[in-house]
Amino acid sequence: MLDPYRVRRDFPILSKKVHGKQLVYFDNAATSQRPLQVVEAVESFYKSLNANIGRSVHELGLRATEAYEDSRKIVAAFIGAKPEELVFTKNTTESINLAAYSLLVSGLISRGDAIVVTRMEHHSNLLPWVRVAKLAGAELRVVDVDDEGRLRLDEYEKALSRGAKIVAVTHVSNVTGVVNPVKELCRLAHDAGAFCLVDGAQSTPHMRVDVKDIGADFFAFSGHKMLGPMGTGGLYIRGDLAERLEPPFPGGGAISLVSCAEDSCSAEWLHPPHKFEAGTPNVAGAVGLAKAVEYLRSVGMEDVEEHEKRLTAKLLEVLEGVGARIYGPRDMKDRLGVVSFNLDGLTPHEVASMLDLEGIAVRSGHHCALPLVKRLGSPMGTVRASLYLYNTPEEVEYFGAVLEKIKKLAT
Ligand code: PLP
Repeated sequence: MLDPYRVRRDFPILSKKVHGKQLVYFDNAATSQRPLQVVEAVESFYKSLNANIGRSVHELGLRATEAYEDSRKIVAAFIGAKPEELVFTKNTTESINLAAYSLLVSGLISRGDAIVVTRMEHHSNLLPWVRVAKLAGAELRVVDVDDEGRLRLDEYEKALSRGAKIVAVTHVSNVTGVVNPVKELCRLAHDAGAFCLVDGAQSTPHMRVDVKDIGADFFAFSGHKMLGPMGTGGLYIRGDLAERLEPPFPGGGAISLVSCAEDSCSAEWLHPPHKFEAGTPNVAGAVGLAKAVEYLRSVGMEDVEEHEKRLTAKLLEVLEGVGARIYGPRDMKDRLGVVSFNLDGLTPHEVASMLDLEGIAVRSGHHCALPLVKRLGSPMGTVRASLYLYNTPEEVEYFGAVLEKIKKLAT
């Protein structure tokens, strides 16, 4: 069983005081904190290994390249992928754009095709597809959710019925914590002849992910939400598909050969993942992300998930106790530890500001998912508390007591 008090010792920031109160960090869906091990791995890279990668023959360059590629092996294995199937990116947003534009420039999405998204997507898994649909002349189909924010499977199957080329769906909602049955969604997409992209920004940090078991063609995630450094993330691309795809962002480091005649130039691409990583990557970030993954593995992802589910059940009870309006399902089998709510008579920002004065960090607003918060009947947005492995039952109790106080002030 996970011991959050033991884990907290690795996160000095969690002992910090905010407005004179002990920090309670409940904004993990936005970004997580990082343990000392990750901070030290990044620092050590810059102190003793720093050089550009790929093309050097000098010692430091070779060792930096080795550190980068070793990190890729560790992070790829964490999601059940082969190293050559993992492209390092700066976040989920970049990963999804990379997937979308790769399909576009490779001619795999074109006029008359359909792109299927859902109403529960983060804007980062919506807007790249809106843009690519427009550029390709393709149709965009938006699958609805029910009143608790669960995907409407009947609508999904209907959306797949005619000419769907790609489905882009989140694994876990960043508003309601709903977990989608992505294995089944990918299977249905494949049966309909479509590719399947899974947005794993809110799943990879909190549960065991196996991209092969899910059957995704693309899987996007953010390193900074899973104890890794800011500006880190990844995109899994299924091996044979990665070979076929044209890289959308060409440049140095992605080619094996460039030749120019008088009026034209051409390039031969490196094999994946390098053809998708033009330019100098965030090498120290990759090293830090690998350390984060090792940290999570040593704790155990099953234990992380179980701990968070237990805390989330308690958080839901506390919110019900103060009469909050909760958005999303109560049943823990349908959800993870992202909880959206509102208090009568107060805007989400007012509640978040009052919580901040008591040392509690939460998010408020539309959480980059406007179509979903509107569908859930809260156009002003919600207050969002999101948990992680270092949060404790005492923090949840304190949160409840502060909300009780805030509620009394408002009435
Ligand atoms: N998708 C989901 C479900 C998210 O929750 C987020 C961020 O909160 C993103 C995509 C975008 O992640 P990033 O800002 O790291 O690109």
